Amino acid sequence: MATEPQIGDLREDPDFEGVPDEVREIRTKEFRQILFNERKRIMSNARRTLTEEMTVDQDDLPDEMDLASADYNQSLSFRLRGRESHLLGKIEEALERLDDGDYWRCEECDAWIGFRRLRARPVTKLCIVCKEKQEHRERAYA
Ligand SMILES: [Zn+2]
Repeated sequence: MATEPQIGDLREDPDFEGVPDEVREIRTKEFRQILFNERKRIMSNARRTLTEEMTVDQDDLPDEMDLASADYNQSLSFRLRGRESHLLGKIEEALERLDDGDYWRCEECDAWIGFRRLRARPVTKLCIVCKEKQEHRERAYA
């Protein structure tokens, strides 16, 4: 019989291996929710900006439920520029990685990124070591 994972028992060590499947399932749900919320926040900010910019009648805009509609997301993200659009892309990517089970590992060195770091930076693909290396490179070649 499987033991119920205890939230308090979960280690935050970025190097830990052998996370039980149940725990990974819980974490997958948790982080999917974090990413959904983040996407929703960006989308509703963007929608507000759009409304202000275009003075569109509020009735012409889909309500919160329709934010999930692909067409709407596409046309909206088409209008998004710079940082927001970049961040939305990263969120989509992170959600895909979450579905594939790649989300927890560093893209460069395959180390565990760690739940603590992922909570702080849910769209990161790099562990802290690789991130620092990358920033160092960026500074060096800036
Ligand atoms: Zn790494």
